[in-house]
Amino acid sequence: MTWLRKIKHYVKSFMLWELLQGLSITGRYLFAKKVTLLFPEEHTPMSNRFRGLHALRRYPNGEERCIACKLCEAVCPALAITIEAEPREDGSRRTTVYEIDLFKCIYCGFCEEACPVDAIVETNQHHYHFEKRGENIMTKAKLLAVGDKYEAQIAKDRAQDAPFR
Ligand code: SF4
Ligand code: SF4
Repeated sequence: MTWLRKIKHYVKSFMLWELLQGLSITGRYLFAKKVTLLFPEEHTPMSNRFRGLHALRRYPNGEERCIACKLCEAVCPALAITIEAEPREDGSRRTTVYEIDLFKCIYCGFCEEACPVDAIVETNQHHYHFEKRGENIMTKAKLLAVGDKYEAQIAKDRAQDAPFR
């Protein structure tokens, strides 16, 4: 039967069978629905649990949510969070320093899970980069600014996820 296989192989090679097979696949996909996205103009759907850039949230009256309990700092497995705190004049406890080193962070989400007042959260923002040394440190001011900017989206994502928590 070896000679039969050889003839078959010869005929197939002569007819460019493999080439025709490849072209048929190309032809099929030429008219099929395209799956390629034109990033960054187009995006894939994103989960409301996506863990991206961190933010510190405020209450609607503008007051910071964070009560400086340091649970997020304690739970962070990467030791990425640094908090210093002291009481205010009115006796409430607030952070004086709240920093996250994004080079250390592994985006595990433990900080937001641990937070009793929903202050530290991870937003769905993933389009960010650093150009200068030190920009990887998210200071309290930067975190609050991210929170202020994306509060509507953060609140929407958390409301959608609330029934499953
Ligand atoms: S996401 Fe995880 S690693 Fe990053 S700051 Fe929060 S607890 Fe730490
Ligand atoms: S962000 Fe939340 S867990 Fe972290 S110190 Fe503030 S209140 Fe506590």
